Amino acid sequence: MSGILVPCHRCGRQVDSSVVREGRCLDCRVEVALADLRAEHRRLWRKRDRYRVRGAPIEAISRQLARLEERMATRILDLVPDREAAMRQLERTLEQTRIERYEIGRP
Ligand SMILES: [Zn+2]
Repeated sequence: MSGILVPCHRCGRQVDSSVVREGRCLDCRVEVALADLRAEHRRLWRKRDRYRVRGAPIEAISRQLARLEERMATRILDLVPDREAAMRQLERTLEQTRIERYEIGRP
């Protein structure tokens, strides 16, 4: 920690300058980098909900979701070398995805 606080250009939070890259804090960099995988996760999740309602088999979609979560973890580990911090970012990403599922795509 360098102790110098700078504002993140994306979310405006004051963060330690050592974690800022291209003006963005770590949380924002992870959000931007994972945006497409989160969208894919939401799409698959809704598809699985539709299948479940119809009584169709969902095992294949569940496997796809599990693989997608592994890809999320891999991508985060590329961005966040510290394993513990990376795991926190993964939990955060999955939590955001859960929240988005209920906010977006409601009929
Ligand atoms: Zn930020």
